[in-house]
Amino acid sequence: MAQPTDSLFEENLRPQKLDDFLGQEKIKERLYILVQAAKIKKEPLPHLLFSGPPGLGKTTLAHILSKEMNASLKITSGPALDKAANLAGILTTLESFDFLFIDEIHRLSRPVEEYLYPAMEDFRMDILIDQGPNARSIRLNLPKFTLVGATTRVGLLTEPLRSRFGLINRLEYYKLEELVKIVQRSSRILEMEINEVAAREVAKRCRGTPRTVNHLLKWIRDYAYAKGHQKISLNVVNDALAMIEIDEDGLDEMDKKILETIVYKFEGGPVGLQSLAVAVGEDPGTLEEVHEPYLIMEGYIKRTPQGRVVTTRAYEKLKVAPPSAQVE
Ligand code: ATP
Repeated sequence: MAQPTDSLFEENLRPQKLDDFLGQEKIKERLYILVQAAKIKKEPLPHLLFSGPPGLGKTTLAHILSKEMNASLKITSGPALDKAANLAGILTTLESFDFLFIDEIHRLSRPVEEYLYPAMEDFRMDILIDQGPNARSIRLNLPKFTLVGATTRVGLLTEPLRSRFGLINRLEYYKLEELVKIVQRSSRILEMEINEVAAREVAKRCRGTPRTVNHLLKWIRDYAYAKGHQKISLNVVNDALAMIEIDEDGLDEMDKKILETIVYKFEGGPVGLQSLAVAVGEDPGTLEEVHEPYLIMEGYIKRTPQGRVVTTRAYEKLKVAPPSAQVE
């Protein structure tokens, strides 16, 4: 097996072309059209918004699109752009057709967001300098660039910002067959020999998320080195993942703690996000953006107006009888 450093591992694993980006077929079809049209029109791509849980490929798509358009990509985030001057600073380093990627765009402050509107629409920015009677505004003319916004919380975006994107794409958790291909692709890049059954097992346990595929493979690779296995079999996968407590459905320790807490401490729910976060010792944002979407998609919990409740599947998972089946 190859022995790349972890940073090389990350770099090599990131798909470089739309053709290498597996899954998310509908989004890819739209992006192919936009890239083709932009090349014919000799114009930059329209501004794009990618939403969805972490690790599904939002940043990767921004990298790929900038390569497809032979342009550069600058990366920043909503919280890093805390002043209009920071935004102006980064926008003025762009050249025509370049891409600006703003991660966590829902966390932009309102004043900075308002500076972004004319930048997106008319490629200009009017900056106010000085205060009081000396206050004056200077206009910055910007190159025609493409803004790619990424968010895990599309609902928190203001309407004026959302409406300025040419296309809004929601990335979904990946399907099993797509994940199998991603496992096989990543293993090939790492020159890890993994058989079909073992690859399928990794795919089953990665919470529908390519980034998790890569994390699990990294761990399995280290485990295999340490134990002297040349090939990755189902046994190696099972033993390696048991050691880091990833269960057969891909739930990790925090996922299980969430289910146990709702069942045992809150009698199955409903429980509000804040109380649940305190009870499991996790940040409410992480709970809501990382753990809950997968638990909801897999049918372990439901959101109700009163709070989170567990489903029968959660009781089955914990091997406890649901309340209706319990003897009073
Ligand atoms: P975050 O919002 O947390 O930054 P993200 O959605 O931007 O997450 P990426 O950083 O783009 O996620 O993806 C994580 C890793 O998963 C990438 O480095 C890449 O190796 C891999 N990956 C993502 N999508 C795919 C895909 N469709 N095919 C193959 N590998 C992928």
